[in-house]
Amino acid sequence: MNYEVIVIGGGHSGIEAALASARMGVKTLMVTILAEQIGASSCNPAIGGLAKGHLVREVDALGGEMGLCTDKTGIQFRTLNASRGPAVRGTRAQIDMDAYRIYMRKVVLNTENLDVKQEIVEGLIIEDNVVKGVTTQLGNEYMAPKVIITAGTFLNGLIHIGEKTQTAGRQGEFASVKLAEYLRGLGLEIGRLKTGTCARIDGKSIDFSVMEEQPGDVPPPPFSFRTDKKTFNPTQLPCYVTYTNETTHNIIESNFYRAPMFSGQIEGMGPRYCPSIEDKINRFRDRPRHQIFVEPQTMEATEFYINGMSTSLPTDVQLDMIHSVEGMENAKIVRYGYAIEYDYLYPTELKHTLEVKKIEGLYFAGQVNGTTGYEEAAAQGLMAGINAALSIQGKEPLILRRDEAYIGVLIDDLVTKGTREPYRMFTSRAEYRLLLREDNADMRLSPYGKELGLLDEDYIEKFEAKRADIEEALSFLRDNFVTPTKEFLAQLEEIGAVKINDKTAWIDVIGRGDFDRDKLITLLPEFDKYSDEVVEQILVEAKYSRYIENQQKQIEKMKDMLKVKIPEDFEYRTVSGLSNEVVEKLEKATPPTLFAASEISGITPASLEILHVHIKMRQ
Ligand code: FAD
Repeated sequence: MNYEVIVIGGGHSGIEAALASARMGVKTLMVTILAEQIGASSCNPAIGGLAKGHLVREVDALGGEMGLCTDKTGIQFRTLNASRGPAVRGTRAQIDMDAYRIYMRKVVLNTENLDVKQEIVEGLIIEDNVVKGVTTQLGNEYMAPKVIITAGTFLNGLIHIGEKTQTAGRQGEFASVKLAEYLRGLGLEIGRLKTGTCARIDGKSIDFSVMEEQPGDVPPPPFSFRTDKKTFNPTQLPCYVTYTNETTHNIIESNFYRAPMFSGQIEGMGPRYCPSIEDKINRFRDRPRHQIFVEPQTMEATEFYINGMSTSLPTDVQLDMIHSVEGMENAKIVRYGYAIEYDYLYPTELKHTLEVKKIEGLYFAGQVNGTTGYEEAAAQGLMAGINAALSIQGKEPLILRRDEAYIGVLIDDLVTKGTREPYRMFTSRAEYRLLLREDNADMRLSPYGKELGLLDEDYIEKFEAKRADIEEALSFLRDNFVTPTKEFLAQLEEIGAVKINDKTAWIDVIGRGDFDRDKLITLLPEFDKYSDEVVEQILVEAKYSRYIENQQKQIEKMKDMLKVKIPEDFEYRTVSGLSNEVVEKLEKATPPTLFAASEISGITPASLEILHVHIKMRQ
C-alpha cells in the first residue's frame, strides 16, 4: 500500500509527527506495536516543568497536540519558579494518564489523511540510499518516500528488575528487536542508553495524613494558547510530599550488590538529572533524606507514582525501602519499578531536519535520538513530521534557529554536538532565554504554524489581533515620553512606582519596579482596552526591554559573524583554544564560511567565536 509519510511509533513523538504530516495534507500511516498504547506515558504522570514547559508551549504554538491534550486531561496545574523571572518559569501539569492516552488515540484515529496499523516494523525498504518503505512482522510492505522512526525505548529494549532481565520495549510490551538489528546493519552509529521508573502504589494503602499536601495553582495555568484561560477550570487533585530516611538508605545501601546498576548488569548510560534512588544514595551518601513526591496517576487516584524513587532493585528490596518511608508503612505495590536499556541513534547522524544524512527520506525523532522526556520527544516528532511533509510538497525545510525556539536549541544541540547520555532540556542550554519565554511562544512560532496550515482560522484571528495590540502598545510606550511634573510624580508615589528624574520613555517608566495591570491602567487609562494576555506581554517586554535589545544585537552580530569567509589556507592548528576534535573536523571539512563551519557536528558556538577573532586578526 502506498503512502507519502510513514511514522513508526505512536508515542509522544510519533503522534506529533503523524498529526503534523497528515494535517499538512500528506497521506500518512502510523505503524505502532499496540494501538491501545497510542499516547501512553511510560514513566511519570506529568507534562511540562522547567524548560520542558517551554517545549510544550512551542509545540502548541506551532499547531501540535500535546498542550491541548494536557489541558483536557490534566489533574493539577502549577507554574514552577513563579517567583523568578518570566524566562525561567515553567508550567507543569499532572495528567490522568489513561485519559491522556484515550484522548490522543481518539485524535489520531479521527484525523483525515492518517491511517493506523497495529503491526511491528521489522525492516526498511531502501534502494540506493533512498528509503522506499517498511516491512512488518505480518509480511506486509507499506511504501512511502519518507519514513520517520520514533521507536522510543523499544529498540532492543531490555528490562532489569534486580537479577531478572526481560526483553521488552516497556513493561508488558514487545521490544523492537528485528528493526534494531536491521538499523545496526545499515552502518549507522548506534549506542545504548538506560532509563528507569519507580513502583506504583495502591492509593488506599497510603497514609496521606502524615504527608505534606501540595495543591495546584489557583487559577490553574493552561498550556495551550488555544485554551480559554477564563473558562479553564479543571478538577485539581493534590500531590503529596514525603521523605526517605536513614532506614531507607540503609536498606538500599545493603542491597547495592543486587542492584543491576552496580553489578555490571546494566551497560547503558542513564539520565544524569533523573537518577535512580540507588544512584542518589550512592552519590550523595551524606544527605540525611531525599524528597519524594507522591502523585496521582489518574482522576480516580487509585494508583500513585512515587516521584524520586525510580529503581531497578529486586522486588523484595523495593517493598522494604518503600515501607520505610513515612506514610507508606503499609503500602502495596501494584507495579514494580524497573530500568530499561535500549538502542539509540547518535543524533550526529542527522541533519537539522532530523533526516539521516546518509539515507534520503529516513528521519528519526524522540527518545530514539538520545533524549529523555515526553516534551523533547513531542518537539522532535513535530519537526520531523513537518519537514517530511514539506519535503513531499517540494518546499523548503523549517529549521528553527537557537534564538527562535527551545526546539531550535534542542535539535541544534543534538545534531551538532550529539549526546552520550540521555539529553533533557534546561533553560541554561538556551543562550537567548530572555527572548525564548513560555509566554511569548505564540508570538515567536504561530506565524510558522499558520503558514504550514497547522492552526485553525479562529485561533489565527485571535493571534493576529493579540499581535497587533502588543505591537501598538509597545510602539506607543517606546515612542512617547513623560516629564516628571508634580502631578505625575504624585501619581507614581501613590501607586508605589519608581520615581523618575528626567523626561523618560513610557517603556522605562513601566519597566522599573513591579508593575501590574492596575498600576498600568492608573497611569495609562487608555490601556484598559487590552486583554490580560496583551498586558502581560507589555509588562514583560517593558521590564526586560534593555536586556532583550542586547540579546537582539548579539543575534545580529552572530548573523554577521556567520557570513565571514574562512581563508582557504587557514591553519586551524595554530589557533589556541580549539580542541583537537574541532581542529580535525575543520581540517577535514574545509568550510568556506563560519556558517558552513557551524553546520559541522561538534563545532560549538564558542569555537566559532574563537575562529572569528583569529580570522579578523589575520586580515
Ligand atoms: P515512546 O513513548 O517510547 O514510544 C515509542 C513508540 O514506538 C511506541 O508506540 C511503540 O509501540 C512504537 N514502536 C517501537 N518500535 C516499533 C516497531 N518496530 N514497529 C512499530 N512500532 C514501534 N522520561 C523522562 O523524562 N523521565 C524519566 O524519568 C523517564 N523514565 C522512563 C522510564 C521508563 C521505564 C521508560 C520506558 C521511559 C522513561 N522515560 C522517561 C522516557 C519517556 O517515556 C520518553 O521520553 C517518551 O515516552 C519518549 O517518547 P517517544 O515517542 O520517543 O517514545
